[in-house]
Amino acid sequence: MNFDPDPAIAAFRSEVRDFLREQLPADMARRTLRGYHALKSDMVAWTRILHARGWSAPHWPVAHDGPGWSPLQRHLFEEECAVAGAPPTCAAAFSLVAPVIYSFGTEAQKRRHLPPILRGDTFWGQGFSEPGAGSDLASLRTRAERDGDHYIVNGQKSWTTEGHYADWLFVLVRTDPQAKPQRGISFLLIDARSSGITVRPIISIDDAHSLNEVFFDDVRVPVENRVGEEGQGWSFGKLLLDNERAFSAEVPRNKRMLARLKAIAGAQGLIGDPVFAQRIAEVEVELAALEWLTLRALAEHGSAAATAWPAGSVLHVLGSELQQKTGALLVEVLGERGVVAYPEHHDCTAGQ
Ligand SMILES: Cc1cc2nc3c(=O)[nH]c(=O)nc-3n(C[C@H](O)[C@H](O)[C@H](O)COP(=O)(O)OP(=O)(O)OC[C@H]3O[C@@H](n4cnc5c(N)ncnc54)[C@H](O)[C@@H]3O)c2cc1C
Repeated sequence: MNFDPDPAIAAFRSEVRDFLREQLPADMARRTLRGYHALKSDMVAWTRILHARGWSAPHWPVAHDGPGWSPLQRHLFEEECAVAGAPPTCAAAFSLVAPVIYSFGTEAQKRRHLPPILRGDTFWGQGFSEPGAGSDLASLRTRAERDGDHYIVNGQKSWTTEGHYADWLFVLVRTDPQAKPQRGISFLLIDARSSGITVRPIISIDDAHSLNEVFFDDVRVPVENRVGEEGQGWSFGKLLLDNERAFSAEVPRNKRMLARLKAIAGAQGLIGDPVFAQRIAEVEVELAALEWLTLRALAEHGSAAATAWPAGSVLHVLGSELQQKTGALLVEVLGERGVVAYPEHHDCTAGQ
């Protein structure tokens, strides 16, 4: 890693800050900074604003209309967006399925799916986990049986984030029940409006709706929607999960949470309490360490690419643990006000 100050990087940071100051709508930022689950309308509107500037897919290669940024530029961009309160874009689309499509998809799949993702026109959901197939994903049972030039899909997926918003789902299905578990799996792109798909909400402990169960009942999927060969789905799934973990250290989100914690603790005079101040300092030190680890990993590895990145798993666990710690401190400083709900944000309306 190079620790010298870099004027080009400083200029990039101020370009991003100027853009955010001019383009990020204040109401959107307020909702994000208050910790709401993002509304689809905010995510789409923000994606369109980013797209107009050519920045909706920071980590895509230039060949697919990404901005061609270095890993450090991407990191700074995400940090500035998080601190300013920009809502997320659809991670399942931009970070998960798109790298699989541009690395392994057919030309027709690339033409059909990449431009609408870039513009924010399509939302995607990830259909991997099932009841009984979470950590042990290779035991998944959703079946896809060949019927001419279609597959007939039957089964159930679970924990599908933003599945109620999704226009498309990328789904791991079992195409060969006789093969070794990992070999009998294929990767399908499924139109979420297909007949036979039912999406049911899972309401989480914070009374929010972002998770879903998705049921497939004789859903017909054209064979041309399979990525790669039949039975190759496991390798695409593993690559995609590596990328998912690699982008899940959540340094920017952790920074946003820490800033909020300090602001609330300051307003309540708690920051002057040496015991509480020490607990905040511990989180801050851990966050600094996580950031340097992440920057080191980015310098060594690069980005979402067609190669595995084991360090991503470690960063993912560290980032999640830190969010839990900061979240617990936030609940503590908020006291009884921490149990106030915002019913206007309890959005269970499919497709809104
Ligand atoms: C917020 C959220 C969003 C999600 N979004 C999606 C999504 O969009 N799409 C999707 O497909 N999935 C999604 N998931 C599912 C997620 O990928 C699974 O939760 C994960 O794979 C773990 O599976 P599980 O929850 O069934 O836990 P389990 O696999 O049942 O594990 C439960 C516990 O047992 C432990 N354990 C399991 N196996 C072993 C073992 N062999 N040895 C020791 N310990 C073990 C685990 O570490 C864990 O602590 C989401 C989950 C969450 C929490």
